[in-house]
Amino acid sequence: MSLENNLASIPRISLAKLPTPLEELPRLTRQLGGPRLLVKRDDLTGLATGGNKARKLEFLMAQALQQKCDCVLTAGGSQSNHCRQTAAAAAKLGLECHLVIGGLRHQAAGNLLLDQLLGAKLHWAEGSEGSDRQAMVVEVAATLRQQGRQLYEIPVGGSNATGAIGYVLAVRELISQLETERIDVDTIVFATSSGGTQAGIVLGARLCGFHGKILAISIDQLPDSLFLAGVCRVANEAAARLGTDIRLQTNDFETNYDYLGDGYGVMGDLEQEAIGLAARTEGMLVGPVYTGRALGALFDQIRKGAWATDKTVLFWHTGDETALHDYAQHLYPLKC
Ligand SMILES: *Cc1c(COP(=O)(O)O)cnc(C)c1O
Repeated sequence: MSLENNLASIPRISLAKLPTPLEELPRLTRQLGGPRLLVKRDDLTGLATGGNKARKLEFLMAQALQQKCDCVLTAGGSQSNHCRQTAAAAAKLGLECHLVIGGLRHQAAGNLLLDQLLGAKLHWAEGSEGSDRQAMVVEVAATLRQQGRQLYEIPVGGSNATGAIGYVLAVRELISQLETERIDVDTIVFATSSGGTQAGIVLGARLCGFHGKILAISIDQLPDSLFLAGVCRVANEAAARLGTDIRLQTNDFETNYDYLGDGYGVMGDLEQEAIGLAARTEGMLVGPVYTGRALGALFDQIRKGAWATDKTVLFWHTGDETALHDYAQHLYPLKC
């Protein structure tokens, strides 16, 4: 059976504005004196601004509707873009949205403000550990089910095989743009966290015969073989759902762990400089938690000579500039 036939049998609803633009970054390319730089603008997917979760939610929310669910539950940090876009999708589809937010309760700003504007119901898991948040998810899910709700649970980041399929198709979209523009990309760089985007991109690249390198910049995970095995499993489940016999191994997923700074969501000089440079040089906003860190990593690698000037590097913008509004005190006055 062909990929098209299998795709047609997987429920999907339209939530993202696709295809997202593929753009050149000529001024940044000149400024850095390195490889030709391109950007895939998934910050422009729409759904309460934009971001990579919109592509995953097209498949996740379609499954929620197919299962006749009336509410969705997911979890994240207070500046989670996944929570914001899930809240927006739920509002658009008339579903109730419950969000378990980890970390200390604080004033609404950035994504946390938008979650509430979008009508989501917040449940705070104030411990700092991921396990506190997971315990709260279990508790909220049990309560909702006791109340007779038809609940659809979405994992953190929307990172399961269903969500990852959104990024398999995103690669197909990108490859078609590159073919039209006759551009050869040597490396694709993006931020990875819960791993669903990476699973989808690596699988999509294999499916489409993309021969360049795919480099994920970890923004929160330390090297962890269990985590990598999970990403690989998600990719292989998605491959099976798509009816291909491609199977990936953990060493197919190239991840850089050198830019973790002081931890998840902690802005340092790397992020600050990258946010300022992208904004002033190309008029492009990147966020404090994910894309600022990944772009900062890319700039650092370019300055260290990782690519010759005749190479082409594509930064996949995954969209988190809404979180900038919660980082004003770190950004102003700009140090760079
Ligand atoms: C969630 C997110 C990522 C990471 O995607 P995963 O699929 O969770 O690895 C990257 N960038 C932004 C802006 C995100 O919100």
